[in-house]
This record gives sequence, structure tokens and C-alpha cells, in this order.
Amino acid sequence: MTRARIARAFAPVAACTVLLAGCASEPRAEEPSPAAETRPAAAHPEQALLEELTLANRMLAETAVLDGQGHVTARSRVNPDHYYIARYLSPGGVSTSDFIENDLDSQSVHGPRNDQARETHLHGQIYKARPDVMAIVHAHTAEFVAFGMSSVPLWNGQTKAPVWDIRQFNNGRSGIVSTPELGRAMAATLGQNEAVLLWGHGIALTAGSIEDVVSRVLDLRESARLQQATIAMGGRSTPRAPTDDAATRDRTWEYLKRTVLKKTGGRVPTSPPPDPVKPADPIEAARRDLVLANRILASEELAVLTTPGHVSIRHPQDANRYLIAPGVAAGAVAAQDVIERSTADAEAGGADLSIHGEVYRARPDVMAVLYARTPEVVAFSHESMKLRPVVNGGAFLRDGLPILANPGPGQVAAALGKRAGVFLAGQAFVLTAPSVYELANRAYALRLNATIQRQAMALRGKVAYLDEMRVPPAPANAPGGNAPLGPPEGRAWVYWSQNVSLD
Ligand SMILES: [Zn+2]
Repeated sequence: MTRARIARAFAPVAACTVLLAGCASEPRAEEPSPAAETRPAAAHPEQALLEELTLANRMLAETAVLDGQGHVTARSRVNPDHYYIARYLSPGGVSTSDFIENDLDSQSVHGPRNDQARETHLHGQIYKARPDVMAIVHAHTAEFVAFGMSSVPLWNGQTKAPVWDIRQFNNGRSGIVSTPELGRAMAATLGQNEAVLLWGHGIALTAGSIEDVVSRVLDLRESARLQQATIAMGGRSTPRAPTDDAATRDRTWEYLKRTVLKKTGGRVPTSPPPDPVKPADPIEAARRDLVLANRILASEELAVLTTPGHVSIRHPQDANRYLIAPGVAAGAVAAQDVIERSTADAEAGGADLSIHGEVYRARPDVMAVLYARTPEVVAFSHESMKLRPVVNGGAFLRDGLPILANPGPGQVAAALGKRAGVFLAGQAFVLTAPSVYELANRAYALRLNATIQRQAMALRGKVAYLDEMRVPPAPANAPGGNAPLGPPEGRAWVYWSQNVSLD
């Protein structure tokens, strides 16, 4: 990290939109000003804490406790009325300069920010209610959501983890902890417990240190998996003592630290990676996005596309054409594999490929199409076992996707209608979105939702669904609503792009 970068990172953050790399969608300042260059570099007074916090976020992303969202936060060690949370960014990609110092009302103490995470009050209100808590992890891990949506309790040591049902405080709606009132209500359900399950959402888990919060959430997930496996095999889940001795915690921390540092050249990252270079030519940019979409959807983290699947993007300048790479497995697609097709042409490659043209013709709003055979998702393509939303990200499913048996030419678009996707019974699904970035988000959410629903059903209790209560839609300007934050592609896409190899 250069001295100028440190000065920028910790400059008064009111200047965030022009100075701090990666703030919202503002362009990054290319070169620091001469004044910034000569400003002496001051180490952050809590640099050690920020390094631990960076590691903790990356460790829990590495172990898939945290998805592209979620966060680990920590209370300041010098001012107990402050805490640190990363700006709106995927936790697996944070650096020490990404943390914002907030007071317990979740206001930045260095001036207003336009890049705060949307769930700051979840953290601030817990720190307010629980002076003993020094670190918090908020995660959307499948195992935790599955227990939260099942009538079967999750044993955390000798106690059942409480479930906080946001609907009682949010006009019947599911959603995120985006206001102080919701944060207070959630903290009240947490009480003196270590963790609280958030209905249709995830978990908030507390600890007395950053190291503890990492080992405790990993231990609780392991315990959740044990309880799931026991119940799925017909056994009975019973309380078990948590593994929270100091030696185990230290070993976990050292091992995960090595794993994370191996990927970052041996040092804790102190500045964000440079923004990816995007081609100025819109067609080149679309081709690049298509290559990335293939690689991302085939990656281990998303695991949506296998070899028989494909993704396409509508041509940015000709609505009657689209881009696709039909000849190569998704995980290996490169720029030279991308071809253009007319939406009117019958596909030589078979019926699966014809679906793209058919959908683009029928749905002018659709800009990207996915055809995939992801087994976890396709398992729900039966009327007797429909996919239903169990987690916030799956809300776009509403009351499930239509299921088409024995599709013939032209029938897929008809069955899709105005919906986001359609099942081809027992074979595949087709998913659509207004952008390729949103398509990747939806595909990720679809597989996560299917995984959680399967886990919740396997607990053999009663499963709750997000759509079981009809409520009016949230007002457009509701706090924590759809206000655009972070890069225009979405933080998950940016993070996923950084993690796929283009070789
Ligand atoms: Zn959340």
C-alpha cells in the first residue's frame, strides 16, 4: 500500500464519493492529488484489529459460512461505543481500508457515507444491548436458515437457538434488519443467548473476540450438520456440548489464516483490488460479461452450470440477436467461443439451444437467459414437490415456478409467461433476468433456496415459507429497499468475477 493510499483510505470520509476507491458507483480517482501525496501516512490506531477483522471475513467466506453478503464486525477496543463494519462489499474481498467506524446508532463517526452495508443496525443494536459482545457474525448459511424455517429446533450446546420472526415487526413482511427498530427487536430475542436465527434470512452470532466468533460459528454449523444428518437418518437430535476450548479456537484461527494468506501473497490486504478493466465497446463488454457469466455459474461457489447447460446475453445493439457460447463447457468458455445468433433462427445445436431465441422473442424485457440442469434445483420440478421461497433471496420465486412436462417448440416461452423462470419437468430449468448480473444473482439464490428447502424438509418438522402470508408489497422507498449501492454490476458479481480464472 502506498502512503497516498493510506491517506486516502483514512481521509475524512465525507469525501468518499471522489476519493475512496470503489465507493458506490462513482468513478475512482485515478491519481491522488499532490496534497494527498505529501500527507504523512499515519497507521490506523486499530490496525491490528482491522487486520484480524479482514482475516475473519475472508476466513468465513473461504469456509462458505458467509456468502457474497453477510459480514463479521468488531467492537472498537479503544472506544466501546464504536464498531467496525466493511463498506457494502463481499466479505471474501475486503481489505483493512474497507472498514467504516460507526457509533452504536450505526452512523459513521467520520462523516456520512453512501456505501454502508444495508444491515448495520443488526450489529449496532446488539453492541448496544450487549456490552460483553466484542464481535458479531451475520451470515445466510443454508444450515442456519433451514433450522430457522423448520419447527425443529437447532440445539446450540444445551439450549435451543431462539428464532426471531421479523414479520411481527415488519408489517408481516420478511426482509433484512435495516432499521434501528428492527435491530432492537432482534437484539431483544437474542437476549443473553450466543446466537439468534433470523426467520427466512440467516443468523446473528456473538462472541467476546474476533477469533472466538470465527471458531464458534464454524462449530455451530458443524453441530447443525450433525443434527441434520441424525434426523435425516431417522434419529433424534440431542444437545451436545460446544467445542469452544481455547486450543481448538487457536488451531482453527491459525489454519484458516494460512489458507487465506496463501491467496493474498502472505499479507493481509490493505487496499481493494483495482477495478476490472471493462471494454469501452458495448459488444466487447457483453462478450466479456458472457465469458464471466459462464465461468461464474460453473464455479464451485455457484455450481449452477454443468456441461449441458448454457447462458446467453441479448445483443446490446440489436434486440433480434443474442450472444452465446454453445460449443464449449461453461467452465472453459473463452472470448473466441462466443458467437452471435439470430433470435429467429432454429438452432442447429438442438432443442435446448432454441429456447434462448424463443424466450428473447417473447420477452422484450429479458436481457439474459440461463438453461441449466443443476440437480438440487431440478429435484423440485414436480407438482408434488414445488420449489417455494424459504430465504429472502428466493422471494422472486413467489408461489413457485411453472412446470412444463414434455416441452415442444415454442412451449417454453408460453409456459414461462411473465415469470422469472420455468421448469422442464425432471430435466432442467430456464431462468431469465433483465441483466446478466441479475441472472447470476437469481441463479445463485435459486440453488441456495433449493438447498435450504431440501434441508428444512429433511428435518421432518413443519417447514415455513416466505409466501405463506399474503402481504402488500413494501413501499419503493422503504429503508433497506432497493436503493442502488456499490458497483452497478452488484457486489456479488464483482466478487465472483475476481475469483474466477479466465485461463
Ligand atoms: Zn442478511
